[in-house]
Amino acid sequence: MAEETSNLICITCPMGCALSVTHEGKTVLSVEGNQCKWGKDYAAQELSDPRRMVTTTVRVQGGLHPLLPVYTAAPIPKPLIFELLNVLREMELQSPVHAGEIVLANALGTGVNVLASRDMPAC
Ligand code: SF4
Repeated sequence: MAEETSNLICITCPMGCALSVTHEGKTVLSVEGNQCKWGKDYAAQELSDPRRMVTTTVRVQGGLHPLLPVYTAAPIPKPLIFELLNVLREMELQSPVHAGEIVLANALGTGVNVLASRDMPAC
């Protein structure tokens, strides 16, 4: 397999290092531009199984507000993001909901739960 170079931005921390990643397919050969060791891990993950945290809102019935902010407890595979957003768009919770409560368990079979970001008391 031919050696290639890809340019990535490490999103592991706010530094946002510009990485120059030399790889053969999904195998990382070298990384330049990273200011810490996490940049190499990010490059390897991004080439083999890119993942992202998802934050959005879910409708709530009878709550102080009509929408509850939610987030994935861990990053999920990038190709599943829009499918997960569609599932969450169709959901409707019943208040009260407590911060950290599981809103959707094992989202799309990923093993990752979707959690409530805040309390949503009944009104
Ligand atoms: S390489 Fe290290 S310092 Fe740079 S953005 Fe990634 S985690 Fe932050």
